[in-house]
Amino acid sequence: MLLNRSERKFPRVIVIGGGFGGIEVARRLKDKEVEVLLIDRNNFHTFQPLLYQVATGTLASDSIAFPLRKMFKSQSNFRFRMAEVLRIDKDTKVVHTSVGEFDYDYLVVASGATSNFFGNADVEKYSLGMKSIQEAQNIRSYVLQNLEEAVLRKNADDRERFMNFVVVGGGPTGVELSGAIAEIQLHMLKKDYPELSKHEMNVYLVEGLGEVLAALSDKSSRDAKRYLEELGVKVILNTVVKEYDGMTVTLSNGDQIPTKTVIWGAGVKGQFPEGINPDLVQRGNRIKTNGQCQIIDMPGVYAIGDVAATVTEKNAEWIARSSTSCAATR
Ligand SMILES: Cc1cc2nc3c(=O)[nH]c(=O)nc-3n(C[C@H](O)[C@H](O)[C@H](O)COP(=O)(O)OP(=O)(O)OC[C@H]3O[C@@H](n4cnc5c(N)ncnc54)[C@H](O)[C@@H]3O)c2cc1C
Repeated sequence: MLLNRSERKFPRVIVIGGGFGGIEVARRLKDKEVEVLLIDRNNFHTFQPLLYQVATGTLASDSIAFPLRKMFKSQSNFRFRMAEVLRIDKDTKVVHTSVGEFDYDYLVVASGATSNFFGNADVEKYSLGMKSIQEAQNIRSYVLQNLEEAVLRKNADDRERFMNFVVVGGGPTGVELSGAIAEIQLHMLKKDYPELSKHEMNVYLVEGLGEVLAALSDKSSRDAKRYLEELGVKVILNTVVKEYDGMTVTLSNGDQIPTKTVIWGAGVKGQFPEGINPDLVQRGNRIKTNGQCQIIDMPGVYAIGDVAATVTEKNAEWIARSSTSCAATR
């Protein structure tokens, strides 16, 4: 039973999101004179770095899902509600959720990020994201279902669409995933699908920049590309996906790839409930905070993790420049 503001002995800290950020905040408040209320749309934490292993069937989904109530069972000031947070009302200090309203004294927005399709509705409609366990399971069943479909097609032209796999985005997600699908081609195909030839299966990695893993050192980028190519991945650089209608991908260089499977790892954007001043939303849909993670015009409200753009003395100029260009393109 949750008490009202006037009945509570200690202030209530609501944390929106049981990802890495939200969990850490809730843990650090153990033994403090506060009530912690964690709200997440799922009652489990998703260990995102291992999503690609679920997507390729090397790990079961329950290996990367950790029940939130169990994680905090020894923390007496901890409460949990499974709900979608819809809106934050900073004036009344209430969050509106799919299961009712909860008032707060302090609020931490740790709602993370979701796939960014950069406004391309068709690509969003037909391609597969990789941000949740459900999406990872979808990828796994899509890959296997398409191989099953390929088995039923008699001629190579008909099989092509079911045996081409396109991964978009050469960051860590795209690199890991394309490599893992190529391993299916190398090691599993012959054993599990003797009717299919590994030479007919193609894994493409499409990246808009001139290198994969662009955020890492030049050597890492070069090595990653070489390893992928050794595995058989066709790495296409300096190219973006222009269109996808569920059957054929059209690239910015005009090339087309017939495929039933496009996996989107080309970008993320912050996700958060309504109630945040739009002027504070920065590049990548991230909420601007000060160096203490406090949302600039919301006293007692903080944003952390993937949803936050924290401004410090060091990065203030860069953030200001990026938001100007962001406002121009939004
Ligand atoms: C495939 C993949 C691989 C990755 N690999 C690495 C890696 O190797 N190393 C690394 O450092 N990082 C990695 N990352 C990034 C890392 O996982 C994120 O930076 C991290 O999860 C961000 O933590 P967070 O707490 O900000 O958000 P998240 O972990 O995304 O958690 C946000 C939580 O908020 C909940 N939520 C969101 N909106 C609402 C709402 N309105 N109502 C209720 N609940 C809501 C969500 O259900 C979720 O549980 C990877 C990410 C992906 C997708």
